[in-house]
Amino acid sequence: MAWYPGAQKLELQPESDQQPAIRPTQLILHSIAAPWTPGRIYEYWRDSTNLESHFGLGYDGSLAQFIGTETRADANMHANLRADGTGAVSLESASNLQHTDPWTDAQIATIIRLGVWLHQQHGIPLRVCRSATDPGFGYHRLFPDWSDGGTACPGDARVRQFHDVIMPGIIAAANGQTPPAPAPTPAPTQEDDMPLNDADKQAIREIVRDTVRSGPPADRDAYADAYLLAYALAGEAPPGASDDLKNLCAWYHQAFQSCVAAVVDNRLAASALEEKVTAAVSAAVGPAVAQALGAGLEITITPKGN
Ligand SMILES: [Zn+2]
Repeated sequence: MAWYPGAQKLELQPESDQQPAIRPTQLILHSIAAPWTPGRIYEYWRDSTNLESHFGLGYDGSLAQFIGTETRADANMHANLRADGTGAVSLESASNLQHTDPWTDAQIATIIRLGVWLHQQHGIPLRVCRSATDPGFGYHRLFPDWSDGGTACPGDARVRQFHDVIMPGIIAAANGQTPPAPAPTPAPTQEDDMPLNDADKQAIREIVRDTVRSGPPADRDAYADAYLLAYALAGEAPPGASDDLKNLCAWYHQAFQSCVAAVVDNRLAASALEEKVTAAVSAAVGPAVAQALGAGLEITITPKGN
């Protein structure tokens, strides 16, 4: 078992003890289609599926390792463990829900450092894999053998970065040169009223839904309220909403718009959004709002300012 000193160790059991050994010859990069921290990726592997990757990478470049690099992980189909005992090391990385966004500069820097370590530790050669079994570096969709029926993962933007920035960066750093500066990403805007697109709204609903599901058992009213809040946070009223409900939604939206816009701008880590939305859900299912909603919405709330 080998553990990368640059990663937080979050060992996944029983997989770490029970899965067979591999001799790692490849690194395969993935996007997880969720804006998750390494800790959240660990929880997902632990609680929601029997698949897993060796590493999890957050938007801020933070890295966790779940399984030693000489143990099989299950993210790459036929590349996980081959008949000759070789296998791929896998890294899942935070992305948007469609995995269409590029890796952040911080993510790229972490991947390059990990790539150098894998080269030094396991002798993974400094090249792009030339076939599904060829030792080297790659990304999930590079070969159909590495997925079940094909995949777009990690997305077009990240495939370009892999070839243009990451692979040259690993080679340069492993040879003791300064890696080329990553391509600059657009500077975040400082506007608080940035409109949300459909993907952002969908992301907010998913976070609210996950938060509600992962919390303590809630009653039906709490679920209904969280459903309403999900709409409110996305700046919409549910279909058929009364004027009172529309006002309530507008008020909630106003309250959280700046925080949501900050996340959309990548100015806040996704974990910070989760915390804020979790707090919002807690507030929404609190007695006062639940009572107001349950009482037929006979309340009038005027949105603050405009
Ligand atoms: Zn993948």
